[in-house]
Formats: sequence, C-alpha cells, structure tokens
Amino acid sequence: MTVLVLGSANADLVVAVPRRPGGGETVLGGDTVVMPGGKGANTAVAAGRLGCEVALVGAVGSDQYGTLLRESLAASGVGTSFVRTSDRPTGLAYITVTPDGENSIVVAPGANADVSPSDVDRLEWDGVTVLVCSLEVPLDTVVHAIGAAASRGARPVLNLSPVTPVPASTLALLDPLIVNEHEASSLAGSFEGLLDLGPRSAVVTLGSRGAAVVTASGVVEVPAPAVEPVDTTGAGDAFAGALAARLAAGESLVEAAGYAVRVAAVSVTRPGAQPSYPTPDEVPS
Ligand code: ATP
Repeated sequence: MTVLVLGSANADLVVAVPRRPGGGETVLGGDTVVMPGGKGANTAVAAGRLGCEVALVGAVGSDQYGTLLRESLAASGVGTSFVRTSDRPTGLAYITVTPDGENSIVVAPGANADVSPSDVDRLEWDGVTVLVCSLEVPLDTVVHAIGAAASRGARPVLNLSPVTPVPASTLALLDPLIVNEHEASSLAGSFEGLLDLGPRSAVVTLGSRGAAVVTASGVVEVPAPAVEPVDTTGAGDAFAGALAARLAAGESLVEAAGYAVRVAAVSVTRPGAQPSYPTPDEVPS
C-alpha cells in the first residue's frame, strides 16, 4: 500500500423535499437515494480510481450500508482490510435537498466514532509513503495516526474538515495541512499565516479558482480549469485523494496540486461524490 486514508465512511441517504420541515412538522419528500460517502471513503475512492495503491482505515457496521461501502471501495480498487466491522451501525448522513439546491444534513457517526488508536496500532506501514486524514473520526485516533506515520517515514496530510482544534505537535508534522477558503479564514488572517500554526506546508482549496500552495518560500496559486459545475459534493475529497496519489508518486506539492485541481474540476461536472470521480484518462491535461 502506498497511500493510507484514515477517515469516515458514511451512507448518504438523500431525499428531495419541497421545503425544510419546522419543529414538530412532517413534510413529504421524494424517493430516498442511497449513496456511498463520508470524507475518508470519498478520498480513498478518488485516489483508487486514479490507479493509486490505497487502503481505507476506518469502520462500518454489520448492516446493509456497511456492505454498500465495502463494495464501493473495492470497486474503485481501495483496500478494505483495515476497515473494521464495528458493533455500532454504519455512519449515516441524512440529507434533505430543497428545490434551491441547498442541503441540510444530519450525520449519525455510528461506527466512525468507534475508530480508535488501536486500529492504528494494527496497521502495516511497509511501503506506505502518504497518510491522509480527515476529522469525521475521533481526534485522538487522528493524532495517534499522524504521529505513527511520521515515525514510520510516511508523509502525514490532514484535511482539517470539519475544523477542529488539533494539538500543535500534530500540526507540526503535516506536509501539507489542507483547508478550504472558509476554513483558512477561520484559522489565519492570510494564507501565509497558516504556516504560523506549525505545518510544513498548507494547501487552500479555492473552489472555482483552484488552490493555493503555501510553503516557506511563498504562495503559489494553482488555477482550476473553467468548467460548468453540476454538483460540487465531494470536490474537496476528490482534491485530497488526487493530491495524495500524486505525492505518493513522487511529485512536488505544486505539481500534485496542479493535478488535483484538474481531478476535482472533473468531479464537479458530474452528480454525486464518489460516482463523479475520474479515471486517469478522464483528467484533462
Ligand atoms: P466540498 O465541501 O464541496 O467537498 P470544499 O469546500 O472542501 O468542497 P472547494 O474549495 O469548494 O472545497 O473545492 C475543492 C476543489 O474542487 C477546488 O480546489 C477545485 O479544484 C475544485 N472545484 C470546486 N468547485 C469548482 C468549480 N466550480 N470549478 C472548477 N473546479 C472546482
């Protein structure tokens, strides 16, 4: 395995509603659409679809949604031997979508809340060059995994989503810290200011404007190709998975970000998260 992704696996239960119900109210919606999701699973699928040797570290329940997630991961070439079957139910995201396209989401973390430092202790690190984490699994597990990666010579990458206070000693190991523009402005007054939090490098994703790579030598803007967006769900996860795949292949951070913006741009032109992720021949040059 060259890339390990530590993070959540959720089934997204999506229903279209004419309007959001108020307290005590019932609103009838359309048919439920069930899709594999969760930041960790999405990131791993994005890397796997690009041909990267990748495995997910996480947990699902022994229910139909756990089976759905395992099948979706395997179909994209993602290793599942570090996906534990928990006593808790698979994580679920209950998503209502109103006609204006706005989402309201309730997440029941279930098995994701059960991913523990002992799951990290069971990992095999031979050949692992990059570890990517996100924060829909417990912080102590992410902190432990980033420390373990650094001590095994693997490059720790953290997608700081959702924004969570992370110990300075963990931030100091990151290369890079990934945030979106909104998260960046909640953390620092400028892109360069992100380095004051301690990471060796940072990447800020900028939606349709691409990304900014921040290192001690300055800020490099990486523009995104112009596309007609259809659905941006999971674009940030596509970016993180593609970035990790290219870093593992030996590219520089700027080169890898240049590839990741092209992968994420393809993902926004198609509906859904995982189903929208491209294979290498679909990535524009
Ligand atoms: P999400 O929460 O939707 O997964 P995010 O807020 O984490 O996304 P964004 O910065 O919105 O992250 O998007 C991630 C990447 O996706 C961007 O860096 C860019 O490469 C690509 N992207 C997003 N929106 C567009 C767009 N409209 N056109 C082209 N590329 C886009």
